Amino acid sequence: MNTRIERLREALAEPLLVTDPTNVVYLVGFASSNAALLVDDGTVRLFADFRYAEAAREVEGVEFVQTKRWLLAALAEVLSGRIGFEPKAVSYAGYETLRAGGLELVPRDGFVEALRSVKDDLELDAIRAACAITDRVYERLVGERFVGRTEHDVAWTLQQLFHDEGAHELAFESVVASGPNAAKPHARPTDRTIEAGETVVVDSGCAVDGYVSDYTRTFATGRLPDELDEAYRVCVEAQLAALAGIEAGMSGADADALARDVVDATSFEGAFGHGLGHGIGLVVHENPRLGTDSADVLVPGNVVTVEPGIYLAGRGGIRIEDDILVTAGGLENLTNLRKDLIEVG
Ligand code: ZN
Ligand code: ZN
Repeated sequence: MNTRIERLREALAEPLLVTDPTNVVYLVGFASSNAALLVDDGTVRLFADFRYAEAAREVEGVEFVQTKRWLLAALAEVLSGRIGFEPKAVSYAGYETLRAGGLELVPRDGFVEALRSVKDDLELDAIRAACAITDRVYERLVGERFVGRTEHDVAWTLQQLFHDEGAHELAFESVVASGPNAAKPHARPTDRTIEAGETVVVDSGCAVDGYVSDYTRTFATGRLPDELDEAYRVCVEAQLAALAGIEAGMSGADADALARDVVDATSFEGAFGHGLGHGIGLVVHENPRLGTDSADVLVPGNVVTVEPGIYLAGRGGIRIEDDILVTAGGLENLTNLRKDLIEVG
């Protein structure tokens, strides 16, 4: 029996058409850019076109229905009545197509995402494996040369290290942001040559069996200006405060405040410009969210990042990011990397 489908059924008031590709993977283990599941009281139906038909027939516990390439037009012909749909995973054109088929459409947001936010043992095994690889990659990365190389070049080294250590793929395009670029939280690697005496933010992760890790460490290429040195100290303090205080039952906003209050009590007030963290799993940004406006409530089984940052435009930036599992008694840090300021060559 598919317990994920069973749990989803318990939450439904009408049949749900699942078209978010990640949600389809989560529910039945089928990866496709053009598939849909109809979950109701009967046998789950899996719809996909010819390109995926052979793989779809191997999925256990579903009835496969082959459709034309324009999936939603085909669904509009075969489905009828009142049906829930995922509003973030159906385009406006797709919605119009379904509606033209006479369906009574009800937006049902976040049902599968809510299930995904609590990890089972199989999922935790994969995340732990991704984290263990990422630990080893960062241990090796600090032995690499930084000064005199471009951010791009270091990003390629990082990718090679992930491959060497057994990652199935990168979780996302790695961030290697040096000097003034380190002040941009989502900087893409550039051809800038890394210089001595600056910070380098390295944010990366890998996937194992589809589940990701997401780490950040900030390194120093030699002695830092006093301001960045102090910013690093404050950022660590903010992260440790969050790690000491996060527990089940807390809201995402309260978790965020644990770290933000530390930063905002210093001269770096306002320099922590993004949320404290986010869930990770089959994708890099999942529920729950930790941020100033997050009403999500943490429960055991959530796996989230804890990533305060301090960004000083034109001068540099700091971010430190761990992946943690919320438990009944507090949390377990899945990241085993040291977080004192590491000098790289
Ligand atoms: Zn990250
Ligand atoms: Zn992150």
